[in-house]
Amino acid sequence: MREVCPMHTEEDPQEGVLVPESGGWAFTCPLGSGHAYPGTYSWERMPPPPDLPEIGELASQLGLDVALPEIVSQFGTTWVEFGVIEHALAAQYPDAFKFLVDRYGHTAIKSKTYTASAFLGATLARLAARGEFEARMGRATGRWSYNQNVVWCALSPSGDWSEGISWASRDSDMSYVPGCTEVKV
Ligand SMILES: [Zn+2]
Repeated sequence: MREVCPMHTEEDPQEGVLVPESGGWAFTCPLGSGHAYPGTYSWERMPPPPDLPEIGELASQLGLDVALPEIVSQFGTTWVEFGVIEHALAAQYPDAFKFLVDRYGHTAIKSKTYTASAFLGATLARLAARGEFEARMGRATGRWSYNQNVVWCALSPSGDWSEGISWASRDSDMSYVPGCTEVKV
């Protein structure tokens, strides 16, 4: 697997290293400047989504095949962190979001391994693999930072991570989750 640094698109692609924990691929740009933060830059390409038929069928029934690309497109060419996308889905498609929370739960209600967010993350990966938009693993911010990385999406990324919309930058809370028990700290 080879990828070009998003900040140095004119350079040669870098060879990725398999990440055993996630099944994804890690890349490091050899250039020491020109990134969002001083120094070198590393990124991860998430593994292909598990081919679970249920994810595809239920996602289609809920209209997520249309809703999620539409939401990602609302942010233009900017990279958007997972939590911001989930929040937008809950605001614009409350019935679909409530269905998923009722069925799978949510960490804003109770700690749990497989949640509505896990379902949505897998659906975003599946739609990205289909070419609906770009998706990449990146830093999880704010209340999501218990995850090391989460999926970030962009319709047609301009490539600058420093201008990405993180959860932490939005000053949101989790009250959009029906039944939320989480208090903002
Ligand atoms: Zn670079």
